[in-house]
Amino acid sequence: MKVYILGSGAGIPIIGHFNESVLVEEKGCSYLFDAGEPCAATLHTNALLKFYGLKTIKNLPLINIYSIKCIFISHSDVDHISGLPMLLQVMHLWQKRGDSFRFQPDNSIRLYLPPEIVDIFRNLPHISKRFTLRYNLHINPIKEGCIYSDDLVKVLAIRNSHVKDGNSFSFILMSRDKRIAYSGDLGNESEIAHLVNEYVDLLIVECAHFSPERLCEALKRLERNIGMVIVTHIHESLYGREKDLERMFSERLNCKVIVAKDCLKLEL
Ligand SMILES: [Zn+2]
Repeated sequence: MKVYILGSGAGIPIIGHFNESVLVEEKGCSYLFDAGEPCAATLHTNALLKFYGLKTIKNLPLINIYSIKCIFISHSDVDHISGLPMLLQVMHLWQKRGDSFRFQPDNSIRLYLPPEIVDIFRNLPHISKRFTLRYNLHINPIKEGCIYSDDLVKVLAIRNSHVKDGNSFSFILMSRDKRIAYSGDLGNESEIAHLVNEYVDLLIVECAHFSPERLCEALKRLERNIGMVIVTHIHESLYGREKDLERMFSERLNCKVIVAKDCLKLEL
């Protein structure tokens, strides 16, 4: 299983810390968690360069966008959805290249959204009836519990308190032998406990709504159930301090902690 941190910043993006987006790849199928800007470009740059016979960029992933089976959006804050309309459009336009540029097996992709933004996306001009997408886009509102399963993975949605007057979810992705928890944004660090009540091989956790020190204390209490941690969606005051933070975590915790920058790739 491969994990790509496409965007590792919080509400204020800079180069190196774009908005939140994480891709998990299992046996040639991909699952995208959140779609902050500029996920379409980050995902597609090297595939496009390769298509036109140009040199690919070393630090960017080489991903087939049609390997994506599902997109899961944790909540409706702009830094988690801003790249989604463009990604849906790129998936449409790039299909002009021919029949091999299709989602398998039936040119469909599933989009899981907080209920309050389902209609907004159903009515976007480029995916509404006024315009016919070249692929089938199935839009589903997220409810708590198991929301998706296929031959390779199962995805659970777990409600958190980040959005006070709407819906906000964390996710657990389970394959046959791996379990990954993805926090999205949390109300506070105590909610991490709901994600690791069973052992997780990898916890991908935000650090924008509590300090690294408070995150560290929370992880200390839970680390027997955590194989490895990626800290992402970091507050802008932490940009450039990734190595200092990793040092702090490694001095206080037994599990390995990586503080993400964009395009971090991890193989589990
Ligand atoms: Zn956020």
